[in-house]
Amino acid sequence: MHDRTYAPGDLVGVLTTEPLGRVLDYRAPETGCGDGDFVEVPLGPRRVLGVVWGKARGDWDPAKVRPIHRLLDAPPMRAELRAFLARAADYTLTPLPQMLRLATRAPGLTEGTALRRVYRLGPTVPNQLTDARHRVIEALRAFAGAPMTLGELAEEAACTPSVIKGLVKLGIVLEEEAPRDLPFPPLDPKGGATLQGDQIAAADALIAAVAAGDYSTTLLKGVTGSGKTEVYLEAVAECLRAGRQALVLLPEIALTAEFLKRVEARFGTRPAEWHSGVTQTERRRVWKMVATGNASLIVGARSALFLPYQRLGLIVVDEEHDTSYKQEEGVLYNARDMAVLRAAIAGCPVVLASATPSLETWANVEAGKYTRLDLSARYGAAELPDLRAIDMRPEKLPADRWISARLAAEVAARTAKGEQSLLFLNRRGYAPVTLCRACGHQVGCDHCDARMVEHRFQKRLVCHQCGATKPVPAACPACGVEGRMAAVGPGVERLAEEVAARFPEARIAILSSDLFGSARALKAQIDTIAQGGADIIIGTQIVAKGHNFPLLTLVGVIDADLGLQGSDLRAAERTFQLMRQVAGRAGRLEGRKGMALLQTHQPEHPVIRAILGGDEEAFWRAEAAERRAAGVPPYGRMAGIILSSPDVAQVFDFAAELARRDTPLRRIGAQVYGPAPAPIARVRGRHRVRLLVKADKTAPLQPALAEWIAQLKPPANLRLAVDIDPQSFL
Ligand code: ADP
Ligand code: ZN
Repeated sequence: MHDRTYAPGDLVGVLTTEPLGRVLDYRAPETGCGDGDFVEVPLGPRRVLGVVWGKARGDWDPAKVRPIHRLLDAPPMRAELRAFLARAADYTLTPLPQMLRLATRAPGLTEGTALRRVYRLGPTVPNQLTDARHRVIEALRAFAGAPMTLGELAEEAACTPSVIKGLVKLGIVLEEEAPRDLPFPPLDPKGGATLQGDQIAAADALIAAVAAGDYSTTLLKGVTGSGKTEVYLEAVAECLRAGRQALVLLPEIALTAEFLKRVEARFGTRPAEWHSGVTQTERRRVWKMVATGNASLIVGARSALFLPYQRLGLIVVDEEHDTSYKQEEGVLYNARDMAVLRAAIAGCPVVLASATPSLETWANVEAGKYTRLDLSARYGAAELPDLRAIDMRPEKLPADRWISARLAAEVAARTAKGEQSLLFLNRRGYAPVTLCRACGHQVGCDHCDARMVEHRFQKRLVCHQCGATKPVPAACPACGVEGRMAAVGPGVERLAEEVAARFPEARIAILSSDLFGSARALKAQIDTIAQGGADIIIGTQIVAKGHNFPLLTLVGVIDADLGLQGSDLRAAERTFQLMRQVAGRAGRLEGRKGMALLQTHQPEHPVIRAILGGDEEAFWRAEAAERRAAGVPPYGRMAGIILSSPDVAQVFDFAAELARRDTPLRRIGAQVYGPAPAPIARVRGRHRVRLLVKADKTAPLQPALAEWIAQLKPPANLRLAVDIDPQSFL
């Protein structure tokens, strides 16, 4: 039942999603209300969504305080979620209303339950259909189970509503009235794989953690294919048996489809899905069902952390090292760290799964804060690939070739046996640089301080910062000479040309995020490859992420040195993780020993040697020692301040003034570095300047930062963003 702490007419505080910087005062409605109630309140001429957030501050003229318009028909936000939002806001220095917005990102929460018209596939689908009709059928198949409205279906199928109506007339598509939000069918925890070896002890430990029902963090470490997913699904099963809700976070939408199938096979039905690819109608359903306890397993992206769970019993963060867990726009937060915070407040275990954990997590294990479980072998007889370097210095390759003789020979041998090879190059597009051979001018973006990347499939130059495009110029924009513009360096599209020329018989597939219009199209390509539909795969980092290609036995890394350039403090760690992840794609099938070859110009580089040597613990210890000596994360704290403005002088002056007024920071022993132009000094016409704050691990950084920044009010067109624990230094 509702708690009615506040009697009708009492003064209460209401947090809205409006950017007002404070909780507003209202009067409790005639029914009374309690903390956490979702309400609609008047704000100026509008009505906005809010949550009752404790007693009123009482600093508003009581005569002017307006009553809450009405209580919404949703279970109140639990104290646990309110505490999480408040702590996350404090940690990331984000205004609370913005946090509330993350927790209410479902449409129509103010509307009641109602019927609506939805569409699904009829019993028979004829083979001969027009393209538009075919797309409708495909869209309905892709969203199997999730009801779609006319608008959503038309958008997914890129057709007019009349196409759908036509299919309804023919009985191919069925139209029906359905309640807006249906509960998710319960999952059946029985069954599961028969675990083996150290899988058994790992699963037992996780099951015990779930049964204990207390907060704990466990690193589940094991190479790709060692059964981490199988093991943590046992913890999910225990959570379901206990009648609690489980959340599994995945770093990439393209991975969810494969995972959902696995859950369906294991638990008999599909779980709730939450990410940007889910329709608005389904989002609303998931939000409501999570809030009423009618969804027991949620699979999703970062933002699923902000759903209104009733009885959260387990959080799993799969591929916990993945950089896409860091949200780099809007509210800047790391979902892995926020998962740990949410679990700590909810009092439930969190499992961080990875083959190549982040140094942060490794250090927390060393410090005794996290438990570690190891899966040491691959399931079945599948072996880890052999890792070797190819020294590129003696190779005399022409300027438009990147594949060494040794790698080419290995690819040819695989193709002849009907096995797959993967050539890895972490560069989208055709060529990273377009250069004038007459004057040396490089084509840059008009709005950003970045070179434009040629994308030959699109026949355009693209800015990877802002997305602006322009045609490849025939004449040099600087000196006007015609016919001397040249592509320099390789991207995956250009590598594909070399592969096609050298292996004319081979079927080639390129996997690069920009080549697919939707997550679904990318998924379809991945499925085709997994079923043997390509001999040679050319891919960017999206191939490193957990996709399973059974016929793949060779991985060739075109440029293993790429990630080691630049001054990012995590360059070594990232390269180590990425190379091991990519190499791990090879040879997952029994009887097929995989091989990974790393082309490098610096085979003696310590990181390259660590990757080849395979002594992971030695690598982590060396990396940890360096970071500790430098006082940087995870052994020190950092915050980035990114200032941007169309006016370059203004943004520098403001940043310099802020840096001068560093007393609040010095008080906690922190230092400010900068201002310095950001490595990408201009994006979308805005000039960017960075300040970097470094502090001891135990220093109370956030309150000091808040006090420091509050000293100066930024001019209207200057934006200031605080990035706690920055991952990217662009
Ligand atoms: P990871 O998550 O570590 O990459 P998975 O859990 O995906 O590993 O396991 C790799 C493959 O081996 C999957 O196809 C999985 O179903 C299978 N597998 C792992 N352990 C077992 C087991 N004990 N019994 C049957 N199949 C298993
Ligand atoms: Zn640009």
